[in-house]
Amino acid sequence: MDGQEVYYVEVLLPLHLPGTYTYRVPRELNGEVSVGKRVVVQFGQKRMYSALVRRIHTEAPKWRTKYILSVLDERPLVTERQMLFWEWMAAYYMCYPGDVMAVALPAGMKLASESAVSIHPDFDGDLSRLTKYELQVVNLLTEYSTMKLDDISRAIGVQKIMPLMRGMIEREVVMMDEELRERFKPRKSTYVRLSEAYAGEEAQRRLFDDLEAKKRTKQVDLLMQYMQMSGFGKELVPKRELPQVSALQTLIKNGVLVTEEREESRLEHFDADSLVPVESIKLNEEQQAAYSLLSSPLSPHTTHLLHGVTSSGKTEVYIKIIDEQVRAGKQVLFLLPEIALTAQIINRLRRHFGDKVGVYHSRFSASQRVEVWRRTATDNEEARYQVLLGARSAVFLPFRDLGLVIVDEEHDASYKQQDPAPRYHGRDAAVYLAHLWGAHTVLGSATPSIESYHNAMEGKYGLAVMAHRYGGFNLPKVEVVDMKTATRQGEVHGHFSDKLLRAIRDALAARQQVILFQNRRGFSLRLECDDCHHIPQCVHCDVSLVYHKATNSLRCHYCGYSIPVPEECPACHSTHLRMTGIGTERVEEDLQIMFPEARVARMDLDSTLQKNQYIELLNDFAQRRIDILVGTQMVTKGLDFEHVSVVGIVNADNLINYPNFRSFERAYQQMTQVSGRAGRHGDAGQVIIQTYNPGHQILQKVEDNDYEGLYHDQDNERRVFRYPPYYRLVEITLKHRDNEVVSAAADWFATELRGAFGQRVMGPEYPLVSRIRALYLKTITVRFERNEAIADAKKLMMQMADELVKQDGWARVAIHFDVDPC
Ligand code: ADP
Ligand code: ZN
Ligand code: ZN
Repeated sequence: MDGQEVYYVEVLLPLHLPGTYTYRVPRELNGEVSVGKRVVVQFGQKRMYSALVRRIHTEAPKWRTKYILSVLDERPLVTERQMLFWEWMAAYYMCYPGDVMAVALPAGMKLASESAVSIHPDFDGDLSRLTKYELQVVNLLTEYSTMKLDDISRAIGVQKIMPLMRGMIEREVVMMDEELRERFKPRKSTYVRLSEAYAGEEAQRRLFDDLEAKKRTKQVDLLMQYMQMSGFGKELVPKRELPQVSALQTLIKNGVLVTEEREESRLEHFDADSLVPVESIKLNEEQQAAYSLLSSPLSPHTTHLLHGVTSSGKTEVYIKIIDEQVRAGKQVLFLLPEIALTAQIINRLRRHFGDKVGVYHSRFSASQRVEVWRRTATDNEEARYQVLLGARSAVFLPFRDLGLVIVDEEHDASYKQQDPAPRYHGRDAAVYLAHLWGAHTVLGSATPSIESYHNAMEGKYGLAVMAHRYGGFNLPKVEVVDMKTATRQGEVHGHFSDKLLRAIRDALAARQQVILFQNRRGFSLRLECDDCHHIPQCVHCDVSLVYHKATNSLRCHYCGYSIPVPEECPACHSTHLRMTGIGTERVEEDLQIMFPEARVARMDLDSTLQKNQYIELLNDFAQRRIDILVGTQMVTKGLDFEHVSVVGIVNADNLINYPNFRSFERAYQQMTQVSGRAGRHGDAGQVIIQTYNPGHQILQKVEDNDYEGLYHDQDNERRVFRYPPYYRLVEITLKHRDNEVVSAAADWFATELRGAFGQRVMGPEYPLVSRIRALYLKTITVRFERNEAIADAKKLMMQMADELVKQDGWARVAIHFDVDPC
């Protein structure tokens, strides 16, 4: 940029605001400003933000503009392509680019005068590295622990606080306060080592001789085990991996073995020379055929669907195609629906690609995310990540050269962002991202979404099929148990059929493991008065409260409202309160009573609230420290355990009877997926599905592993009843404290919409849960034919929404658009 010319910039703010804002560039910054860098601007009365330069021009606006205050980055942080991606996302999912920016940039890169900072826990306290102002900041934060940037700026008399902070955040002297809450707590474990007194062979021989002379055979045995596991005293051994016998306690008490608390490393470490070369993977015939299709430069498709049954070895095929890209110096984005799945996949990828694998997801701290962001974009090829693994937000990483996108478990509903905007689908966004890069996409699943399979059937996507399990193992045998008949015949105990109990007993006797799926958490789903049938409800939401035994409370699963369990009916004071419907807590407790010797654990939202708890649970299960794992849909997903022989679905009916056009598709997917956890490394897999409706078509299809049949029926229904993939849905939700206001506003909106789109508009209606967090809800759904161009229609709908909130008394009506709702 010319040093003398007057320039203006259009900047994007990470806020829910339409469009960009114009600022003037002070001449002395002409040389520094460029597209994609962050600049500090004043916005509103007093607030300062780091904004992103979208465009530079010389067209002076008609109104007076403020100057940008400083430039934060030496080189652009965000590329033109990323910004195009954001703009596409905003337009497609009907929100503002600022909404996208707010989720796309890691928190550590979005500074605002309102942001609070504190001392980074890893700061080594070396004050000599700090400048005068930095030292003042550190002193302030030592005194007040957290402060807003604004306040720091005033206290030390430095206006350009953001550039100062940026440097301190990067060097991990301070951190953004939101990191505090999610700070990573390393897991500590007790390790055992041999006392220094017994270092050296000579001393060890004397120790053994001595114990043997005293006939301490149990101690000798244990010590021998320890010696083997520790490479003859060279390494620490986790205490829990040794037999928990009294001899261990004695050896520790006598100072022969010493215990030590250590951090357990979360990831295995991989030395460059311990990497397993990808060539050593030998694909079987089916895998080879799939691989050839996916990697063929002659394939007419840029997107392929890999439909492989559970345990057919999709991951090994992915590894092969990733390897091609890595060798060519390109980057690969590998998406997973849920981070619970990442631990296993990370280790499988790191075994082959070592330090080239970067992991990115929202449970990481902000500084970890900034680090991954940097290593994705870096010029330094040595340090650059080439395989980026993450949940949906990884689509926002600043790729240098994206060659391939893999979306594993592409059917999974958790790819869809619910709140806040952008309500995007990670899979669909990834397909678009690949398109922007001219990269290829592979969507993988054992139970593809109807949409993706439809695209494959229409020839839009290429299709690779793997119909058999790797290793020649059979798919597990699925049995449907009719609970009605079983009850009549006295073959039900509690909530379990004799058949399921027998299968569990046999599995435990054979030292195998069991997974039980129950899609409700809590102990009982509701409390009901036997006399007046009153059921305690949430005061803020239109739902019944769920009984949680662990906390002895009734809780709302929508807003968290919670009350102690009442001793009598709040309506009629009767003491005959009955619990109905069961959740995971109840299943866990009943099983523990029936199998007292088994180690039972539960995996659901309540048991994995704390960071890494789910990793620990999965680890414990993989290490066979748990015999029976009870859980919600968290246990259904792509996990690969060796010793699971039985999978039970406690109640299939509440999966099937969910009022949504996808409910059959989803029920089939969940049941088939959880079944797929059984018998992955042997033939003995057995699945037992309990139901009161054994003739249901979906159960038949799961039993027969008949995906094609499911697709055929569902695709047909979707066409007839005008749902995706034949139609595109836009669901509009209006919320307000006052039921009458929301109803009137929704009626107005629906009338406007009908004026523009006629019969395509459905509603307004109350959704299934019509009040959440004290707000009343109404929804309107608009359906467009698949081939209609609807970019303009979307813009028009957003204008109508803007119009609506300008009307008297409607300013506080919240309006959400959900494009392609799940
Ligand atoms: P999927 O992702 O289709 O469920 P996985 O990739 O997890 O299946 O494979 C199932 C199991 O079979 C895994 O334990 C995996 O290591 C093993 N496996 C699959 N393909 C191969 C292969 N070509 N060579 C060796 N082991 C394989
Ligand atoms: Zn009552
Ligand atoms: Zn509630």
